[in-house]
Amino acid sequence: MTEDDAFVEHRKLIVAGSGISGLSAAIYAGRSNNEPLVFEGDEPGGQLTLTTEVENYPGFPEGISGPELIQNMKTQAERFGAEIDHGIVEDVDASDRPFTVTMKNGDVYTADAVIAASGASARTLEIPGEDDLMGYGLSTCATCDGAFFRDEKILVVGGGDAAMEEASFLTKFASTVYIAHRREEFRAEDYWIDRVMEKVDKGEIEIMRNTEVTELHGTPEEGVDHVTMVRHPEGHPTEKLDDSETETFEFDVGAVFYAIGHTPNADYLEGTGVRRDEEGYVLAKGGRDGGQTATDVPGIFAAGDVVDHHYQQAATAGGDGVKAALDADDYLEDLEREEAASEPEPEPAAAESDD
Ligand SMILES: Cc1cc2nc3c(=O)[nH]c(=O)nc-3n(C[C@H](O)[C@H](O)[C@H](O)COP(=O)(O)OP(=O)(O)OC[C@H]3O[C@@H](n4cnc5c(N)ncnc54)[C@H](O)[C@@H]3O)c2cc1C
Repeated sequence: MTEDDAFVEHRKLIVAGSGISGLSAAIYAGRSNNEPLVFEGDEPGGQLTLTTEVENYPGFPEGISGPELIQNMKTQAERFGAEIDHGIVEDVDASDRPFTVTMKNGDVYTADAVIAASGASARTLEIPGEDDLMGYGLSTCATCDGAFFRDEKILVVGGGDAAMEEASFLTKFASTVYIAHRREEFRAEDYWIDRVMEKVDKGEIEIMRNTEVTELHGTPEEGVDHVTMVRHPEGHPTEKLDDSETETFEFDVGAVFYAIGHTPNADYLEGTGVRRDEEGYVLAKGGRDGGQTATDVPGIFAAGDVVDHHYQQAATAGGDGVKAALDADDYLEDLEREEAASEPEPEPAAAESDD
């Protein structure tokens, strides 16, 4: 904390993230009287606000739009006393208790417990057309959005396990799946390459090696119409645009799925002692009993896509948020008991004099 930072207040519980895991945590924490303060981060509502229709979230037989689901959860969390505020957590100092939580704008809070529900951001290519078409024919989640593109030509971008898995999955719906990979060789495990090659043999998947997408064309109303692509025989064509061997062409597709990885949003936990894996995902304890969302630092819990690089679904992230709120509640109750036990005994009242 520097001189310029402004102390705002102390809270029992701060939740970093207002995606489905943060809001699920907030509903439960509110009902446990832990008065959570939820910071929205730079993507209020999280990844679900990027999608039009969520068809697999239990309880909505006709589906529900991502933004509507999130808005409902916000209203529900606020009904139970959660406060939802703008703000990006920049740093958590766990060297002392309570924790010091410093925001990007310099505001400073202290908190007895913190839930990291800050999600993971799908990597994008940062090319023209992306912002307009995300959620309208461009997606980063095949499980979520594949079924919207029955009998369409679908392009998957990537060359790792996720790209192979998504491409295989998308053959259920697509007329043909195309995989565009910027190099000759795939990074994916042999297992996944073999699965894909079986589908190549059946004519369900076509591979476009040494090829990258440089622009997406279409409209939010009509979806993706076609993409501009570049190819160079030695790979990485976008780095060789001026090379005479680089070929540029237009390619018709009905949908594009990026499968180029996710980046977990957890840098603000750096230095706290919370362990993360090599990709940056927070390591929580898991296991069969309570305390599943506990990190290595007592009082810091983690939920949703910031922990989970496997399932990455709304229902699983929401369930994780619920667990984190319950785990935090156990922790806060223990803390209260410890504090009460360490308070000095009250002085015995002086005996009243008879005279
Ligand atoms: C296009 C798309 C469509 C999808 N469709 C479906 C679907 O149909 N069904 C399904 O089950 N799943 C779907 N998913 C996956 C689902 O959205 C995620 O699994 C889920 O949103 C994860 O929730 P989360 O709360 O863990 O993280 P996120 O939704 O990523 O939310 C993270 C939150 O943390 C905040 N944050 C980040 N850093 C900070 C910080 N430093 N300080 C404070 N806050 C911070 C962000 O602003 C955001 O509010 C889809 C994903 C995408 C991208």
